[in-house]
Amino acid sequence: MDQWSDSPPCRGCSSYLAEPYIKCAECGPPPFLLCLQCFTIGFEYKKHQSDHTYEIVTSNFPVLDPTWTAQEEMALLEAVMDCGFGNW
Ligand SMILES: [Zn+2]
Ligand SMILES: [Zn+2]
Repeated sequence: MDQWSDSPPCRGCSSYLAEPYIKCAECGPPPFLLCLQCFTIGFEYKKHQSDHTYEIVTSNFPVLDPTWTAQEEMALLEAVMDCGFGNW
């Protein structure tokens, strides 16, 4: 069934989630959802830890790799930041 059709709020900041957002692969049900901002700062809540595996939720393209850890994602973000600004 289409049980997630309503925009769910972020667990960190309670704002509506805009894709892509993060769904913890280890917490839930109910699903533990975070916006990218809260995920990036390593938001933790009760059982949820920032090193949990997760899925990226987006309807634009299938990026579902629960084998990635937050650390790997942070490394990727840092690499993007290093190359992404100032030097086009
Ligand atoms: Zn948030
Ligand atoms: Zn979790």
